[in-house]
Amino acid sequence: MRTSIATVCLSGALTEKLTAAARAGFDGVEVFENDLLASPLTPEEIRARCADLGLSIDLYQPMRDIEAVPPDEFRHNLRRAEHKFRLMQRLGADTVLVCSSVSPLAVDDDALAAFHLRRLAELADGYGIRVAYEALAWGRHVSTYDHAWRIVEAADHPALGTCLDSFHILARTSDPRDLEGIAEIPGEKIFFLQLADAPLMAMDVLQWSRHYRCFPGQGGFDIPGLLRQVIKAGYQGPLSLEVFNDVFRQAEAGPTAVDAQRSLLVLQESVGLSAPPAPVVPTGIAFAELVSPDVEPVSELLEALGFTRTARHRGKPVDLWQQGEARVLLNTGPGARRDGTQLAAVGLESPDPAGAAKRAEALLAPVLPRRRTPEDVPLDAVAAPDGTELFFCATGRPGLPDWTSDFVPAEPAKPAEPAEPVPSAELVEHAASTPGALHRIDHLALTQPWHQFDEAALFHRSVLGLGALESVDVADPYGLLRSRAVTNADGSVRIALGVGPAPSADDGDRAQHIALATDDLVSAARRFRAAGGRLLTIPANYYDDLAARYEFADGELDTFRELGILYDRDADGAFRHCYTETIGRVFFELVQRDAGYRGYGAQNAPVRLAAQHVRRPVR
Ligand code: MG
Ligand code: MG
Repeated sequence: MRTSIATVCLSGALTEKLTAAARAGFDGVEVFENDLLASPLTPEEIRARCADLGLSIDLYQPMRDIEAVPPDEFRHNLRRAEHKFRLMQRLGADTVLVCSSVSPLAVDDDALAAFHLRRLAELADGYGIRVAYEALAWGRHVSTYDHAWRIVEAADHPALGTCLDSFHILARTSDPRDLEGIAEIPGEKIFFLQLADAPLMAMDVLQWSRHYRCFPGQGGFDIPGLLRQVIKAGYQGPLSLEVFNDVFRQAEAGPTAVDAQRSLLVLQESVGLSAPPAPVVPTGIAFAELVSPDVEPVSELLEALGFTRTARHRGKPVDLWQQGEARVLLNTGPGARRDGTQLAAVGLESPDPAGAAKRAEALLAPVLPRRRTPEDVPLDAVAAPDGTELFFCATGRPGLPDWTSDFVPAEPAKPAEPAEPVPSAELVEHAASTPGALHRIDHLALTQPWHQFDEAALFHRSVLGLGALESVDVADPYGLLRSRAVTNADGSVRIALGVGPAPSADDGDRAQHIALATDDLVSAARRFRAAGGRLLTIPANYYDDLAARYEFADGELDTFRELGILYDRDADGAFRHCYTETIGRVFFELVQRDAGYRGYGAQNAPVRLAAQHVRRPVR
């Protein structure tokens, strides 16, 4: 179906909004009156700009407080409307949105509302304009789609139809039976369809609408369910996004428009209107890549964690550090930025790397060059919204390009050791059998730019085919942190997406972490300490509280206290975890997860965050 977006969804001047919409592939726009009023361009110039960009103006909006008012007031309204119809002619827009009245002057009289809307439609018809009547969820007398439709039906004029807005409908009901009436409306009388999602919240509906709308798939509404009814009705118009959101208003228009278009691509797929390449769900984490301007502290930390430097990239300053199935690349090349060590790329084990990349491309993810240098193994990769590079890869699977082929076994670390390089597999296996060995990457935590949290969750769900858990709020001493995990079915890929408090110069607020799994956290923590590693110190008060909440075996809590181990449990199991200190933006977490436990220790995050603020990064 054709796609359209209201200019109010995007930030910037009208021309910036139009450019962003066109670049993201929208077919048309809804011109929001305030954007036109604030533009230095004449309506004719705006029309020409849209034509140049290949955009149609699908709707002009809004016209308010028209119907069911006293006669003098209505005369005044018609005069006002006629001005707007002339303006719309100059603009080349043929449909106007009329919202159900919120005016204190409006009376509860459907017959009068129908009469007034018919008069308005007659006037509009003379200008070749159609009127789309929409029920606002907080309309004074008309607040439901079926009520608005009954009035439109009674008014019975070819230039009058209804506009359905998913927010106004779904903010009032989550019962699918309430949506069935939509399919009964003749398709040609649905003049327009506006789509917006929203997180499920208990709050005043007007505030909810003005500040928290989001793109389909980013909130909690059943937008596909509503769209199915609209399609059943025979609606032929565009799918148009109308999202008021405090965050999007401030974010850059270009990326927001792309995220918006992606949300419609995913929505259309969900109702069978389109069939992009199917998602290829990753089956594991092949590697996490750190870029660092300074190899030493990171190498020391990896060594203390029990990692072995097993190989080096053939052509680049990138080392492969390995322990069991946990692989960390340490890149000290030109990609290393001034602002310190960070997690720059993630290798996702994929059953079909090329297919995964095709899916990503179809959903507008920026595709990265397959080879960096002519010698490199060609790898499919895309950029996530936060800039993290996601490589779709295969580790040691025949028939697929193996990223490890770019690596050659490392020289032994100390000259005193045998001249023959120790076969890396043997080394790694040896390390894996020690008590407290780290086996694999349990999860990665990526902190998103503050304005990209919802997009990030939708991206990981739709592009990678991961499932998203509920978003949780975590208190940081200096603000609130939101976190949402995306994961595959067996939990072999877990990514915690977080967004911190307002951006600040403090790297800690943008921290990322790599969580490593062990079967024996106490031994892992002791081993790390014995190797010179420093664990994050947790306040004694935390352990006093733990003692009140849970029963522990003799001495267990003392050990936790000594090592800074945090503890959580849910109905299915326990979670023990502790943290290293932070280098640049990155720290490591060591976790021991009972098979059934599905969380990430969110309960403990405020304590961890506070401890990290006390203990500033070592560099
Ligand atoms: Mg609307
Ligand atoms: Mg974690």
